[in-house]
Amino acid sequence: MRGLKGKNVLITGGSSGIGQAIAIRFSEYGSNIAINYFRSREEAEKTEQMLQVCREQVQQQGVKDTLIQADVSQEADVVRMVKQTIDDLGGLDILINNAGFQIAGDSHDLPVSAIERVLATNLVGAYICAREAIKHFLAANKPGVIINVSSVHQIIPKPRFVGYSMSKGGMQNLTRTLALEYARNGIRVNGIGPGATVTPINRAWIDDPEKRAEVEKHIPLGRAAEADEMGAAAAFLASDDAAYITGQTLFVDGGLTLYPDFRTAWSSE
Ligand code: NAD
Repeated sequence: MRGLKGKNVLITGGSSGIGQAIAIRFSEYGSNIAINYFRSREEAEKTEQMLQVCREQVQQQGVKDTLIQADVSQEADVVRMVKQTIDDLGGLDILINNAGFQIAGDSHDLPVSAIERVLATNLVGAYICAREAIKHFLAANKPGVIINVSSVHQIIPKPRFVGYSMSKGGMQNLTRTLALEYARNGIRVNGIGPGATVTPINRAWIDDPEKRAEVEKHIPLGRAAEADEMGAAAAFLASDDAAYITGQTLFVDGGLTLYPDFRTAWSSE
């Protein structure tokens, strides 16, 4: 992938699942990595070890990484995290807004605080990280890239997860608005929209064969995604191969956004 070697990449929620897979992918291409973790330093250290193994395999030498604890919903944490990334790696070129979580519950019963918590991390947190990254890109007078890890639920409703749906729907306009506002500064902003992916967020069904089959039967390509497939898409969008792409969300979903129930034309002869 062109243009990733030597780039400084900050990945929020980088100690597990899709964020971890993205970190490993960028390591393969010779990028320096700042892994943001929320709670578990041990998880982040495991990711760091995986990066080292990966670099040895692809013989990348002199590549740096750093681990940074921060809660992306807290403005002061994000300001500190971005500053530490710049101090530890020597700059910031690519931000991956990956941190996210969901809260389930019937929409008519949810306390407002449940919605606010999800939005504060998934959407406002992504905005604060983007704001701090853009400030740095502008001050350094250099191009930059932001990748927002959204979801198929950017466009597909998710009943009983209304806060999550709201956050990912909002992410589309976060991506598009920042892309338009900063295109002239050489800053590209894109999203990826994962479908059902094998990561800890889906622990409710990934290890239960019956539940997993139920999920996978809705997916046109017939299987859940591996987290590395999100890493590949994120790396492409951040690379120079995507230099003319901005404001887009690339759905990496096995066809989930193709209205699978319309596989056969049930509404006409
Ligand atoms: P995951 O639970 O492994 O990863 C989420 C990460 O975000 C965790 O490392 C967690 O610690 C971190 N995080 C949560 N709140 C945080 C906060 N306040 N500050 C910093 N970090 C925080 O699950 P994942 O599937 O890898 O999810 C990564 C992203 O992908 C999320 O944004 C999720 O919405 C999105 N996504 C996942 C799927 C899927 O099927 N796995 C599908 C669509 C979108």
